Amino acid sequence: MSESTNLNVAVVGAGPGGYAAAFLAADLGMSVTLIDPEVNPGGVCLYRGCIPSKALLHVAKLIEESEQAKNWGIEFAAPKIDLARLRSWKEGVIKKLTGGLGLLSKQRKVRYVQGRAAFENSTTLRVTKSDGSTESLSFDLIILATGSRPAIVPALKLETPRMMDSTGALNLEDIPGTLLVVGGGYIGLELGSVYAALGTSVTVVEMLPGLLPGADRDLVAPLHKRLEKLFDGILVNTTVASVKDEGSGIRATLKAQDGSTQEKVFDRVLVSVGRKPNSEIAGLEKTRVQVGDRGFIQVNKQLQTGDPAIFAIGDVVGEPMLAHKAMHEGRTAVEAIAGHKVAFEPNAIPAVVFTDPEVAWCGLTETQAQNENREVKVAKFPWAASGRATTLDRTEGLTKILFDPHTERVLGVGIVGVGAGEMIAEGVLAIEMAALARDVAMTIHPHPTLSETVMNAAEIFFGTATDIYRPKRG
Ligand SMILES: Cc1cc2nc3c(=O)[nH]c(=O)nc-3n(C[C@H](O)[C@H](O)[C@H](O)COP(=O)(O)OP(=O)(O)OC[C@H]3O[C@@H](n4cnc5c(N)ncnc54)[C@H](O)[C@@H]3O)c2cc1C
Repeated sequence: MSESTNLNVAVVGAGPGGYAAAFLAADLGMSVTLIDPEVNPGGVCLYRGCIPSKALLHVAKLIEESEQAKNWGIEFAAPKIDLARLRSWKEGVIKKLTGGLGLLSKQRKVRYVQGRAAFENSTTLRVTKSDGSTESLSFDLIILATGSRPAIVPALKLETPRMMDSTGALNLEDIPGTLLVVGGGYIGLELGSVYAALGTSVTVVEMLPGLLPGADRDLVAPLHKRLEKLFDGILVNTTVASVKDEGSGIRATLKAQDGSTQEKVFDRVLVSVGRKPNSEIAGLEKTRVQVGDRGFIQVNKQLQTGDPAIFAIGDVVGEPMLAHKAMHEGRTAVEAIAGHKVAFEPNAIPAVVFTDPEVAWCGLTETQAQNENREVKVAKFPWAASGRATTLDRTEGLTKILFDPHTERVLGVGIVGVGAGEMIAEGVLAIEMAALARDVAMTIHPHPTLSETVMNAAEIFFGTATDIYRPKRG
């Protein structure tokens, strides 16, 4: 293995992909410059994505759980919400984490340049700094990690603060009386849950027949049921045909699949219909980088673009647009640059929806197996039979594992229920380690935990799980 670490590398964009790449490159001895408009590394994930949304979802869960406590003989007074304090707590979380990354950057002697990069040629960047000055910098190699931004629907474009994207919603300017969430994907449902818990009457509109397109329906069903109680309305097979600013609110025309329409006025509208890759980097046409139809930069398994001097990672190179995928791609790109024999070809990338209950899956989904006519054996363990779920009064969950019926290998795992996001990592490990049903069933899980349900699902593959009763056939 040839090591080439004596390189001068630039990383454009300091989100989870960019900072992970920059830090590893520095650890491997490369001279690294990290360029981003923010004062510290963090990108969308830390400033206006994963982290602030999860901080607010934690609060939402607390409020919801305190409501549920009535069932257990404990009644709390209605929550008093100090919005300024909640906002500053969330900002504090962001500051702590991004400040920490800034420090790690300094400790590694990464040169952090606050600014926006444009290409002069394949190896030279012109950086416009936050103070307006520009600097031309040349490198041996450049890694693009410019991320993504909220997609805009032209019909839903209105110049009013009442119309928000995810960034606006996370700013938490107020607690609106009514909120229309356009798009029933994970961002819409997570942020909708936050506002609903804070007291807003939330309506979600989804164009497709169900929430969370891409997730198996049996995993979505318990979430849908709970959200029906939390939200004012969930309208599937429905689009927002138009929006009109009426000064005191936004009048939205909602169009159902059968063509019928209804009009409603909302205090605020959150448009969460997906994200677009930031591939329109100034001067990119001066390089040999290729951009595909959907705007993603095209890369090979080493994350190298059509231009040998330029690599690209994270949201800007494709789905799934998730922070952990970006970070792993960052590692792979840097290791490839260092001369290691690597490729980005994971068997499973977990997806987690941090609603309550959480929905998480990895590897093959049942829907995918059906669409591809793949023979699989699906073992499901309902949480009604879980001691831990019962102690939490949250038995609506489900853990399922997809196995190859011949080799008994774990191909996919799906979980819905509290803590599903933490537990899915076991599924990822099982898939990556090529675990068999027997391996999972024989792995002793601690009792009483929700993690036991993974072991129990594997037991069901063999027809018996002691915690449930299945009459013998014949
Ligand atoms: C509300 C919300 C919640 C989310 N929750 C989760 C979650 O729970 N889990 C999860 O895995 N993912 C989540 N995501 C997605 C996650 O944020 C992204 O997948 C992740 O941030 C992508 O990382 P990245 O490194 O590719 O780029 P980004 O984080 O998008 O960072 C790119 C950076 O590059 C900068 N940049 C762009 N162009 C230039 C340029 N020309 N010069 C210099 N800098 C430039 C940008 O300003 C930005 O700072 C969420 C996203 C949103 C919006």
